Amino acid sequence: MKITYLGTAAAEGFPAVFCNCSHCLAARRALAYERRTRSQALIDDALLVDFPPDSYLHALAFGVDLSAVATLLVTHSHTDHFYAQEFVNRGYKFASGIKRPVLDIYGNAEVRSVFEEGTRRELRAEVAAGLRFHTIAPYASFCAEGYEIVALPAAHTPKEQALLYAVSRGGKTLLYMNDTGLPKEEFYVFLAERGIRADLVSLDCTQADGPKSSSGRHMGFVENELVRDTLHRYAIVRENTKYVVTHFSHNSAPFRDRLASEAKARGFVAAYDGLTVEV
Ligand SMILES: [Zn+2]
Ligand SMILES: [Zn+2]
Ligand SMILES: [Zn+2]
Repeated sequence: MKITYLGTAAAEGFPAVFCNCSHCLAARRALAYERRTRSQALIDDALLVDFPPDSYLHALAFGVDLSAVATLLVTHSHTDHFYAQEFVNRGYKFASGIKRPVLDIYGNAEVRSVFEEGTRRELRAEVAAGLRFHTIAPYASFCAEGYEIVALPAAHTPKEQALLYAVSRGGKTLLYMNDTGLPKEEFYVFLAERGIRADLVSLDCTQADGPKSSSGRHMGFVENELVRDTLHRYAIVRENTKYVVTHFSHNSAPFRDRLASEAKARGFVAAYDGLTVEV
C-alpha cells in the first residue's frame, strides 16, 4: 500500500493565507521547499482522503488524474478538508474523457449538507448523476476499489462527528487519524476487537512541539506519543509499524528540516507535501 501526502498543513496553510508572522514570512521567502498546502492523501492512486480547496493544485503539482479516482473518503466538513464547490466541474462542458464516470463520496451528515449547500447553485443534473454521496457514521464499514474501509470516531468538534478511517487491503492497513485530539477508549477497543493491525498510522500533529498546549481538538508530539503507546497496549500495531505525523499549523514553525529531526527523535516521520510512504 502506497500513501502519498498531497497536502500537510492545517486549515490556514503554510505560509498561512493572510499571515505575516515570523514563521510565515520565512516560509514565504523559502518558496516551494517550505510550502504546505491543505491536507489530502492519495492511497495507491485509487482512494482520495479529503478534498481541500488545494486539490486542484495537488493534481497539477503531483500529476494526479482526479477523473480516475472513484472513491473519496471525507473526514469532516471543515473547509480545509472539503471544498464542495469544485465538484460542479466534474462533467458537462467542463470535463470530458472522465476515466471513472461515478465518484462515490463518503462522509458524515454535516459533510453531506456542505456538499448540498456548496453545489446548490451550479451543479447541473448531468454532473450530479456522476456524484454519489454516502452518509456514514462511526463504525460503518464498507468496501470500495477492493479496500475494506472502517469509519471511526474522531475527537474533534462538538458540531459534527468527524471521522477517522482504517483502510485495509492485501494484509496491509492504514490508520488515518486527522483531524482529532486524543481518541476515546472505545476507538481502541473497537479496533482491538476487530483484530485490526495497522502498518501505517497517520497522526494529527497540528501543534507539533509548538508552545500552545493541546486544545483537545488536535494533537502535538506529546499526544502522538500517547496514541502510539495506547495502540501498542491494545496490540493494534506491529513492531515495525510506521508513524507519519501531519496537518501542521503555522504556529508550530513547521519548517521541513526542523520538523523532520524533531519527529525522527520521537520515532515518527514528518510528512511534507509530496511525501510517499509504502508499507
Ligand atoms: Zn484540518
Ligand atoms: Zn503565520
Ligand atoms: Zn477540522
